[in-house]
Amino acid sequence: MSTSLTLVQGDITEQTVDALVNAANSSLLGGGGVDGAIHRRGGPEILAACRALRASHYGRGLPTGAAVATTAGRLPARWVIHTVGPVYSATEDRSELLASCHREALRVADELGARTIAFPAISTGVYRWPLEDAARIAVAAVREAETAVEEVRFVLFDERAYAAFAAQLG
Ligand code: ADP
Repeated sequence: MSTSLTLVQGDITEQTVDALVNAANSSLLGGGGVDGAIHRRGGPEILAACRALRASHYGRGLPTGAAVATTAGRLPARWVIHTVGPVYSATEDRSELLASCHREALRVADELGARTIAFPAISTGVYRWPLEDAARIAVAAVREAETAVEEVRFVLFDERAYAAFAAQLG
């Protein structure tokens, strides 16, 4: 089964998909950017589920490059898959961790039986990863993944991010 890659410019919290991916931080307790938007729009049920996961499995935090699912609360999706992107470093190559976020999110999606998934541009906000490079790594990781997911939708917040991902799909 081949996976189709699609691009949308917009807000990930408005996407009707089986699963949407959160660029979380390792505390799982919410933050700014896309994380803040997901918790705001999704409501307190998501944070409650994150707290429970912290208590049961991730007392030391969700490791960078790993992914875990919760309810999507009031969002028009069934699940939120939280993954922790690497902070960009100019001196250390962390691309494997960024690729891992995408692979692990798809692996969790497969476990859940999700067929459509939306990704934001992980690590390109507060974590400062250059957009073109992040887009290259994200698209390659998804293309190389073996998954039953039928649609992977990248949801880019602004025109620059959209253009960077479009250049990779082109
Ligand atoms: P990180 O900490 O992984 O860098 P951020 O949330 O700071 O995560 O940013 C990741 C990307 O998500 C950035 O490109 C940012 O512009 C984008 N973003 C922020 N809010 C939203 C949203 N509501 N929907 C989609 N993308 C968003």
